[in-house]
Amino acid sequence: MRTEIQSILNKLGIKADNAAFSTGSVWGGDANAKSLESYSPVDGKIIASAKVATAEDYELIVKKSQEAFKHWRTIPAPKRGEIVRQFGDALRANKDALGTLVSYEMGKSLQEGFGEVQEMIDICDFAVGLSRQLYGLTMHSERPNHRMYEQWHPLGPVGIISAFNFPVAVWSWNTALALVCGNVCIWKPSEKTPLTAVSCQHIIAQVFKDNNIPEGVCNLIIGDKEVGEWMTNDVRVPLISATGSTRMGKAVAAAVGARLGKSLLELGGNNAIIISADADLDMSLIGAVFGAVGTAGQRCTSTRRLIIHEDVYDAFAAKLVKAYGQIRIGDPLDQNNHVGPLIDTDAVANYLNSIEKCKAEGGNFLVEGGVLEGADYASGCYVRPCIAEVENDFKIVQHETFAPILYLIKYKTLDEAIALQNGVPQGLSSAIMTLNLREAEQFLSSTGSDCGIANVNIGTSGAEIGGAFGGEKETGGGRESGSDAWRAYMRRQTNTINYSNTLPLAQGIKFDL
Ligand code: NAD
Repeated sequence: MRTEIQSILNKLGIKADNAAFSTGSVWGGDANAKSLESYSPVDGKIIASAKVATAEDYELIVKKSQEAFKHWRTIPAPKRGEIVRQFGDALRANKDALGTLVSYEMGKSLQEGFGEVQEMIDICDFAVGLSRQLYGLTMHSERPNHRMYEQWHPLGPVGIISAFNFPVAVWSWNTALALVCGNVCIWKPSEKTPLTAVSCQHIIAQVFKDNNIPEGVCNLIIGDKEVGEWMTNDVRVPLISATGSTRMGKAVAAAVGARLGKSLLELGGNNAIIISADADLDMSLIGAVFGAVGTAGQRCTSTRRLIIHEDVYDAFAAKLVKAYGQIRIGDPLDQNNHVGPLIDTDAVANYLNSIEKCKAEGGNFLVEGGVLEGADYASGCYVRPCIAEVENDFKIVQHETFAPILYLIKYKTLDEAIALQNGVPQGLSSAIMTLNLREAEQFLSSTGSDCGIANVNIGTSGAEIGGAFGGEKETGGGRESGSDAWRAYMRRQTNTINYSNTLPLAQGIKFDL
């Protein structure tokens, strides 16, 4: 283990074998429980392990969280916001350490690791303000001397299932909002990134302890999909917020729907940038390359397809090929590198398989892919970002491959480009690069992009926390983070108060006794 990583683990309270769960400040775990080992994709070395939650652990966690909810919901929302503010400060104090561990455990670049923690800080700030703005509406009653309004109440324990690629930020988006809304949280992180989750739990548990908040407000359970299934099938967990593949989302939606629970789904994307003949090609190049190779193509918003106007196609493809020749692949903790490893060797096999499928369907590779070999790439997880000319209806192009494979598609008219952009099952992020106002507005109109995110002169990748984040179709329809996404974490109640001397019925109905 590198010395800098060891001292970071010490700072974050990570031991060789970490307890499986925490209820607020107390750590538990069955001594006989299985351990989950976390390997770094950076060098293939084991970092530490975490105990997997047993069914008994899960029961205990749910009961504790239900108990904690009874108290937490009675704390005024701005006071809950104050605790979230302190959590944001604790993240500021741990930004370097946590950001570095994110980079080492997940494989994204150090800058992106720090950026992920910054996103957590930003959502805390947002949630603090929100804690004073959980507004309901008032309506005019049709009956005299009646008042009608709506208010919002917390739901209870919120189950959060998260993916490996944003191992900490997605949890914080859910947690910061859920907490100010008066909910308690049970988090099942990805089994591929348990240590960053344990670190977050240590940080937030300390904040609760400092404020004398009883155990059970924020809970962590480590495990694979079976542990997630306990939550999705559990009527005591009214909302499941699940981030991951569309395959997972369909299973979660079916389980939660069968018990008429609420689900908030943030699933896969197949994001395209339209590059018009009126685009600033230099700007487009930066957006396209960062979108396609950033996080080694493992963002839900990664750019997977470029839909390029025929007049600029050859020139832009040549620029891309040149830019790909300059990409430095290697240790993500070394800030000279642009691209780190994929998460594990299964992801590498999936990448290679997708390249084969693309070739079999007739894809023409302008930049070839492949796995990097040698001492610097000993984990076996480093791959070359590649570019292929394809047709949009290739089976492989319709599918989200979570790796740096960029598909190029040519178009003639904007209508055709929009149809191509929308012509996939997913609907997360989209963009157009153009300096032509008419094109930009058409892309954003109701006949334009069908995605949850539609940008002009910005790529598909990366989003600010102030907007609602999420997508349509197979991306699941959920919205998290900014705007009014908080409403998903609360239940709406309509109240009518009669302060007259009679009991008039609505719609003028007469009922005399
Ligand atoms: P994954 O679907 O393999 O796993 C995600 C999480 O779901 C893990 O914690 C896993 O244990 C759990 N899980 C899997 N099956 C389950 C089931 N049947 N019931 C309950 N839990 C289950 O995804 P991944 O490989 O970790 O992440 C990559 C995927 O996540 C990509 O498709 C990416 O686009 C998507 N993603 C989407 C967003 C978004 O906001 N839309 C953000 C990040 C990642």
